[in-house]
Amino acid sequence: MRSLNSLVSKLWLTIILMVTAVLIILTLVLIFFFRSYVFNTTETILEEDIDRVEEMLLTEHDMGTLGNTSLLQEDNLIILYDEDPLLPFSALDEEIYNRMNTENITDTTFIIDDLYDSMYMIKTSSLTRYFEEDLHIIMYRDLDAVNQSISGITVIMFITTGILIIGTTIFAFLLLNRITRPLINLKTAAYNTSRGKYQPLEVRSRDEIGELTLAFNKMNRDIKKNIEAVLHEKNLREEIFSSMEEGVLYFDTDGELIYSNAKGKSIYAALSSNSHEKEMFISNVLDIAETKTSRIERFNMLNSHYQVSYTAVVSDNRTYGTIVLIRDITEMVKTETMRSDFIANVSHELKTPMVMLSGYSEAILDGIVTEPGEVREMIKIIKDESDRMNNLVNELITIARMDSGSDLMNIEGNDFMYLLEDVGLKFKHALNEKGIKFVLDAEKESVYFDFDYGKIEQVLNNLIDNAIRYTEPGDKITLKVREEGDHVRFSIADTGIGIKKEHQDRIFERFYKVDESRTRGKHGTGLGLYIVSSIIKRHQGTIDLHSEPGVGTTFEIVLPKNHNID
Ligand code: ATP
Ligand code: MG
Repeated sequence: MRSLNSLVSKLWLTIILMVTAVLIILTLVLIFFFRSYVFNTTETILEEDIDRVEEMLLTEHDMGTLGNTSLLQEDNLIILYDEDPLLPFSALDEEIYNRMNTENITDTTFIIDDLYDSMYMIKTSSLTRYFEEDLHIIMYRDLDAVNQSISGITVIMFITTGILIIGTTIFAFLLLNRITRPLINLKTAAYNTSRGKYQPLEVRSRDEIGELTLAFNKMNRDIKKNIEAVLHEKNLREEIFSSMEEGVLYFDTDGELIYSNAKGKSIYAALSSNSHEKEMFISNVLDIAETKTSRIERFNMLNSHYQVSYTAVVSDNRTYGTIVLIRDITEMVKTETMRSDFIANVSHELKTPMVMLSGYSEAILDGIVTEPGEVREMIKIIKDESDRMNNLVNELITIARMDSGSDLMNIEGNDFMYLLEDVGLKFKHALNEKGIKFVLDAEKESVYFDFDYGKIEQVLNNLIDNAIRYTEPGDKITLKVREEGDHVRFSIADTGIGIKKEHQDRIFERFYKVDESRTRGKHGTGLGLYIVSSIIKRHQGTIDLHSEPGVGTTFEIVLPKNHNID
């Protein structure tokens, strides 16, 4: 069915049908003309024959002797005299005579076509007017030439048709290569183009198909170029949208999400998990589209803060939808809160020692306390609180410098063991006083690498200070140092009170103290670990905490040895 539908098959069939029709018409015309020709010729011959016989009969006159004349030599001749045959009948004569009747016996020509598989033309003539009795001459001739020529023509026609069919078929095969093949190639290439495969076709001819192929190749190139341009633009847009900090969502006027970047998608998915919040959000989206306005709102979700800006997309007074930009402002809100908390904390931390300083010095000045022992104790408290204030102010200065970036790092090659010796000397007294055992676990006498001496000293001070502060007499503090390839790992472990799990993530935050009442007594401000972790971060190092309440706490620090200092 498919091959019948092909162009070449159609062409092939059309040519065959046309040629066959022409041949049939030609054959029929030929047969008709040939038949007429044979009929006319035969009739003329018969006429001449009859004229000759008539002449002979008219000159003889004596019917009795007629049978002996040259007429006997004539074939296909019947002479009826008074309804009796004058000449002896051949079998054919008799057959023909039997087919005749009185109407066609006088001056007529007719054809019998079913005698011995042959056709005969019969011509009669009557000479009765010259004789006393009826005299009829009947002459006939076969028309086999007609049948022979018809079959001849038919054979020729069959042979011609056969040759023609073979010729047309060969022609069709030639056409197949020249027309169908390139068309099939074009069809395949067009399908490939629709699937995004742009393959150019070879132009093999200069005819219409060649031109079509050229046009197709050009179209292919243009499509490819345009698609690439569109894709490039789309990718660029995607790139811009996906690199945006904000979540971008686009809704149609029915509230259906049409487009979203990755950030927008994740925020919208989180939002969609709460049906009430989603409902509120979509109702805002629809409201904005309806009123053709814009709005900025804030909302909280899963401990995060978002700023949402809704804008209606309007063109030619028609609303197409709503664009929603969602910005995660959690960090900003956190910073805002931290700043206000920081001020509140600093004020609070400063207020307590100030009240103490003022109260105790007033008591001494007013002579309320006169006992030298008591006075001494009070002055000691004043000294401790001044130290604490001094410490707090120093820590605040350190933080302020680190935050502003004015506190430059001074990383250079230093001996870590030398630093440890320095720090150890400082804490010797405090350790002895509290009855805490200090163990240094190091493999080498010198561990040389790049670090800021002053800053790492601050780190050790803070960590050892904490370890002493949050341990009881009899506990042990272990300082372990190990070199590991291009890193140095050191840890400060104590057997003190430990830190509960719920506090472990937060103790590196500013002013975070585990237990206000306990730590206040121990004079902490909660800034130490924040400073420690900031310094470690600035050394591209890491700090980890392992702690179990009642068992002890370990702070483990890993620092890179090399900092590519020029
Ligand atoms: P600062 O160091 O500013 O004088 P601080 O010691 O209280 O005050 P951080 O050093 O930041 O502050 O410590 C934060 C909190 O972590 C402390 O209040 C304490 O509760 C807890 N903590 C720190 N180190 C230890 C430790 N070795 N053992 C038990 N708890 C600790
Ligand atoms: Mg501390």
